[in-house]
Amino acid sequence: MALYKTIRYLSPSNDAAFDQIHHPGNVTPHSGIYRCEGCGLEIVSEHPKVFPPQHAKAHTSAQGAIRWQLIVYAVHQT
Ligand SMILES: [Zn+2]
Repeated sequence: MALYKTIRYLSPSNDAAFDQIHHPGNVTPHSGIYRCEGCGLEIVSEHPKVFPPQHAKAHTSAQGAIRWQLIVYAVHQT
């Protein structure tokens, strides 16, 4: 689970970007922290780089394929 110290730097959002699922090799649409829906691993991925092709630790069959979901969106506007 992602951690933070100062809540004033984070805001709740219903942006549709949080509902999208991304696969290894897809272009990262928004820079931020992503969580694998299969195993809970969290990574930082930057737009327009691609999501990593695999984990250091392979998924079990019960965990299924690697699926990345945005959990913290980095806003680049001031
Ligand atoms: Zn995973």
